[in-house]
Amino acid sequence: MIPPRFEYLAPQTLEEAVALLGKHGGEAKVLSGGQSLIPLMKLRLAAPGYLVDINRIPGLQYIKEVDGSLRIGALTREADLEASDLVRTKYPLLFDTAAVIADPLVRNLATVCGNLAHGDPANDHPATMLALEAEVVAVGPKGQRTIPVASFFTGLFTTALASDEVLTEIRVPAPAPRSGGAYLKMERKVGDFATAAVAAQVTLDGGGVCQRVGIGLTNVGPTPIKAARAEAFLRGKRPDAAVIKQTAQLAAEASQPVSNLRGPAEYKRDLVRVLTARALTRAVERAGGGR
Ligand SMILES: Cc1cc2nc3c(=O)[nH]c(=O)nc-3n(C[C@H](O)[C@H](O)[C@H](O)COP(=O)(O)OP(=O)(O)OC[C@H]3O[C@@H](n4cnc5c(N)ncnc54)[C@H](O)[C@@H]3O)c2cc1C
Repeated sequence: MIPPRFEYLAPQTLEEAVALLGKHGGEAKVLSGGQSLIPLMKLRLAAPGYLVDINRIPGLQYIKEVDGSLRIGALTREADLEASDLVRTKYPLLFDTAAVIADPLVRNLATVCGNLAHGDPANDHPATMLALEAEVVAVGPKGQRTIPVASFFTGLFTTALASDEVLTEIRVPAPAPRSGGAYLKMERKVGDFATAAVAAQVTLDGGGVCQRVGIGLTNVGPTPIKAARAEAFLRGKRPDAAVIKQTAQLAAEASQPVSNLRGPAEYKRDLVRVLTARALTRAVERAGGGR
């Protein structure tokens, strides 16, 4: 339970952090909340030679709306999302998600950006950010670039981030009027990773027809999954019970679960179907379409 030896580095600026990551190549890892990295090191599943702790860099902990999108800084904790009135009232999908991650102790330290950067398909925010069509900002030696979340998760525990880049911000498009979202998660006990979970986000037009649909799936494949066929099916339709049922079936077909201690693959696939139907129903209600 004691991690292998490593050198601890505490840069004061982003530029310094990027330079340290570049200097030590793939041997260095960013440390933000430490809620995934430190347990992995203690279990000796990860053994970085250098930890670049970004917690002393000022100006990275914020939640704010700028130019039509919600900006979440690299040092914003899950607990900050839970405490934000803006997130609770305008981004219910994000609020739902933060509330079911681990426990309050973990949420006080774990960062939202770290939740994505870790590339774990069992983490909850990836599916949410897929449904919200978010993008991330990465800063490296060549400057800044933005990456759509839809192309961010490249494999199991692998992302589009280079080893010398810091994920500095998540950008979530501000929802149009008549939008709603919901995150539903089945876990074995409170604080556990999902057996399966579903993020749903919809925008309705004045006639109650779905204009925009986002559906993301957690822990039912080697990466978080965007249920694109299900989204396309629902787009342009009125989300009545029959349409939601068919959409949920398509989402289940998009999942790629494996059997393990959390249950057999068939059970998880059916869970995706049930959770998708419920999450969409709640999202439509929140968008004002249920009244
Ligand atoms: C008991 C327990 C229960 C948990 N349950 C859940 C759960 O239910 N749902 C869930 O989603 N998660 C859960 N987690 C995992 C944890 O909440 C997330 O993985 C966490 O949010 C990761 O963020 P962090 O800031 O702690 O990242 P760290 O642990 O510091 O880093 C994780 C990885 O991401 C990289 N990284 C972090 N930040 C950046 C950055 N800004 N730029 C570049 N790379 C970066 C690190 O180098 C490392 O490889 C649990 C953890 C624990 C300990």
